[in-house]
Amino acid sequence: MEKGLKRFIDKNVVVTGGGSGIGRGICKRFASEGANVIVADIDEKGGRETVEIIANEGGIAEYIYVDVSDNDSINELIKKSADKFGKIDVAVANAGISDRSSSALEATPDDWDRVYGVNVKGAFFFSKAAILHMMENDVKGSVVTISSIMGRAIKNMTGAYASSKAAVIAFTKTLAKCASNAGIRVNSVAPGMVATNLYNLVEKELMMEKNSFVKWIIDQSIKNGNILIPREGTPEDIAAAVAFLSSEDASYITAQVLCVDGGMDWSW
Ligand code: NAD
Repeated sequence: MEKGLKRFIDKNVVVTGGGSGIGRGICKRFASEGANVIVADIDEKGGRETVEIIANEGGIAEYIYVDVSDNDSINELIKKSADKFGKIDVAVANAGISDRSSSALEATPDDWDRVYGVNVKGAFFFSKAAILHMMENDVKGSVVTISSIMGRAIKNMTGAYASSKAAVIAFTKTLAKCASNAGIRVNSVAPGMVATNLYNLVEKELMMEKNSFVKWIIDQSIKNGNILIPREGTPEDIAAAVAFLSSEDASYITAQVLCVDGGMDWSW
């Protein structure tokens, strides 16, 4: 957890996919550092749970529905967020989903569109809308996308997912270039393995217990010497990197991908 840092007092932060896993960790981190947080998610129950957790810890958060695969919904989110707290200072494009099958050879066009609709189109158009909002309001803000080590060093499995995350890395750099004249920074955090609901489908397919897929990969990686910090990642690990990149501490950093993966990226 943060060590008493308060870098986001009076700052307004919007996090997509804030109702679960890594997104929830990111929302909690910003709130603990004094931000007003918009928890945006397609899942109202999860989103409201995050708001409640933050409120119980003394933070400020509101839930707003969004389906990032729908551009109108994204525009509505930006408008409602600004109506709620005022101009948006930080936007985190975190919402993401996995393939239905763990083998690229079983990918279907429908599943490809589903994954790209959220991971690529959704993350891009949310980031773009946030940047345009910041430009219109003269906010020298920060956008952070959540990519993946899968978008950098692909070992096996997954059809759309891995390439969708490579696309996120590519458009993050494009947006960083386009937004730079307005003083807006755009970076990406590429998480390693964090046990979340993202792996529900693969665990079901492989008939594994909940949260056992990440444990299995980490155990294999430790055994094979393929991870330099021998443990799984946590939402808090990822949130710390997102908060850093969004803060003034990172004021000279843009167009970068920060891997938070225990050193897995280079050895996979
Ligand atoms: P998760 O399933 O726990 O959380 C994803 C959240 O996104 C959920 O709350 C879900 O409701 C929301 N969401 C899904 N579709 C949406 C839509 N159309 N509109 C709005 N919200 C939507 O998974 P997670 O692991 O916390 O994933 C968060 C991000 O981290 C994703 O982009 C994922 O690809 C990335 N990531 C995760 C890992 C990992 O090991 N867990 C590794 C690398 C990258």
